[in-house]
Formats: sequence, C-alpha cells, structure tokens
Amino acid sequence: MTTTSFDRMWADLEPVGRDAGSGGYRRYAWTRTDHDLREWFAAECATRGLDLVEDRAGNQWGWWGDPDTTPGVVIGSHLDSVPDGGAFDGPLGVVSALATVDALRDAGFEPDVPLGVVNFVDEEGARFGIACAGSRIITGALDADRARSLTDADGVSMAEAWRSAGRDPKTLGRDDDTVRRVGRFVELHVEQGKALALAPDGSEDLGDPGRAVAIGTDIWPHGRWRVDIPGEANHAGTTRIADRQDAMIGLATVIQAARSYAVGLGCVATVGKVHVVPGGVNAIPSHVTAWLDVRGRSEHVVHAAVDAVSSEAGRSGATTTPESWTPTTTFDTGLVGRLREILPDAPLLGTGAGHDAGILATHGVPSAMLFVRNPTGVSHSPAELASTDDCHHGVTALTAVVTELCTGKDPESMSDAR
Ligand SMILES: [Zn+2]
Repeated sequence: MTTTSFDRMWADLEPVGRDAGSGGYRRYAWTRTDHDLREWFAAECATRGLDLVEDRAGNQWGWWGDPDTTPGVVIGSHLDSVPDGGAFDGPLGVVSALATVDALRDAGFEPDVPLGVVNFVDEEGARFGIACAGSRIITGALDADRARSLTDADGVSMAEAWRSAGRDPKTLGRDDDTVRRVGRFVELHVEQGKALALAPDGSEDLGDPGRAVAIGTDIWPHGRWRVDIPGEANHAGTTRIADRQDAMIGLATVIQAARSYAVGLGCVATVGKVHVVPGGVNAIPSHVTAWLDVRGRSEHVVHAAVDAVSSEAGRSGATTTPESWTPTTTFDTGLVGRLREILPDAPLLGTGAGHDAGILATHGVPSAMLFVRNPTGVSHSPAELASTDDCHHGVTALTAVVTELCTGKDPESMSDAR
C-alpha cells in the first residue's frame, strides 16, 4: 500500500519540468513548473487531511496535528532542481515523507506530537543564486530586502517573481512562528556520492539492504575563494614566449595545485568558474579571475588546502580573497543518537553538500538527515539515481523514525525539544 503510494506519486512527478532534450529537470523557484509542483504538493496534503500552511518565504507545510500546541516532528525536503538536475535530489524526501504518512495511517498510528511534511522552496538557488533561500529567509539568515532584490539571469527580481506568482513580496521575511513549530526536522535525501554503494572493502555492493540508508552526521565545512591572477595583454602572434606574462599560465598553476593538495590532504577542491580578460582568442590574457570551492571533513584540512594553493599561486603574483565560509554543521547529537537507536544497522555519513536541514541546524533547530543509496554516486545530473527497492527502504526507515519520535514514550517528544 505504502510502496504503491510512493510509486504513484513518483510517476506523477516524473514528467513535471523535465527537459525533453537533456532528460534533466528544470524546476526553478516561482516559475510555472514550480507552481505545478506546489499545486501537486497542496493536493497531496489535502488528500491526506493535512493542514496546509505557507510561511513568509513560501515554504509549504502540511500538518497532522496542531504545532502551535507542541512543536512537531517535521519530515520532507524540496521539489526544485538545479539546471538539468536529476529526479531524486529533493523530491525523494518529499515523496518519502508523504508515503510515510500513508504508512503510519495504514498501521493505525496516531502521533502523540504533531507531524509536519515540508516542501522547502528554492533550495537549489538555481534561479536567484542563493541556495536554501526558503529556509534562510524564515530563519533570518537571508535578509528580506536582500532576498527581494536578488535577480535571475533575465534581470527579474525575486520580488517581481513573487508578484508574477500572485504573491505579495512585502510579506516575505523572517518567520519565527513557523520555525518555532519545528521541534525536530529529519530530511531524507538521495546520497550525493558513492559511499553507500561501496562495501567497506571498496568494492561495489548494491545488494546489501543494510547499506540502503545512512544517518547523516554533519555537513562538511565549505568555502569559496576568489583568485585574481595578473598578466599583461599582448598579441598572440607577435609576442615571444619569453616576453609573455600570461595570466592563464597562473590559472593552470592554481588548478593543478588545487587538485594535488586536495588529493594529498583528503578533501575536495574545484575551480568551476573563471573570468578571462580581455577574453579574445588572439590576445594574451591580462587578468584571470578564478573561483575556488573547497570542502572537507574538517575546517583545518580545508584551510590547509587553500593556504597551500594560495601560496603557490602567489608566486606568480596572484592574490586569494575569501568570498564565503560555512563552518562545519554538526547535526543535533541527541537526535542523531535517537536515529542510531532506531536504525542500528545504518551507516553514519557526513556530506559535502548543503541542505535546508543544515540551515535549520545552524539556527538551533534539532535536525538530522537520512541518505538513500545512489548507485551512480552522481548528483545534480540526470544520472542521479536510487533504485525503487532502496526508495522503499528509505520510506521504511523514515516510518520507523517518525513512529518513535512521535510516540509519547519518546522522552524528548514530551517537552519542547529546544
Ligand atoms: Zn537537495
């Protein structure tokens, strides 16, 4: 019954926002596709008799029980995507949460504390450039004026996008009442790497049901740095190699150094965006700006890698400037401990990707995550995958978690968990 409802919902969502050419999804905030997804979510809540509430960022919450009497347990994720994203990042958590409600109903379960299902808006930031915008706005991590003035690639502001979607952008902003209703948040998500698909000896093993679902422990520290590399513009045909100051050579050093220090220190480093001046095929670059993204298990490792790249790049006159820094987000140890009791066989997993659960955790809401095995290890691409069996294992795990967390005998559920 539950697996049937999961499969039915999954089939419903499959065509929404899918690009026929790439096979990937283009589900961006406050577009027609987003509207269709929101209507779908609202209808699924209505079918189950959940009270639908929209907060001041436009996040949708379907409540079973009244969270104004006792803060509730919330499950869910997001329905938006990156450009040409996969089917699972986000929707897996929302569909699994709704299927969990069905499983609880089938079992005749009545929660002692309110249960909420959430669809966070604009998690990927694909349109306005800020990831987790919905959770950042309600927690105050993203200022309302700044959010309203963010623009998309066509110059449309978030405020204008709200108006086009029939909403009043003046109402957008921090929403303490909404956050107060969340006693605990458990976000189920497709794994965005291959850890669960690999057995402890490193061989691929997709058959072990004990590795279908992991418990998320933390989100790795993460930073972005801008590297400015100087050069001297000159003619590509008439300037002798010995006379050149080619900024692109400095970029090559940065890219190679990022790779080798990441390997040496056991972290990940990416140069995914560069800006070349003057940008002519027949002109020696006079300036290159590169953006370096580094993430790792510890803040120490990330800083060590960036310091090493920066000093190597500095030899050719490059300067490295920090642009953003997100420290380690450790999920609530009490909640993670409860998940370990409920799912004793589940491996523990840290992640290098940001999530709404991380934003809520940083704001002090006890939060944690469950990850479902991804056999390709690929994410943010149409190759992203989870097998149907593993999706069903995810629903079973989430159902077990909610059953325990929403039962009166759970010590933390009897009082405001914060
Ligand atoms: Zn996601």
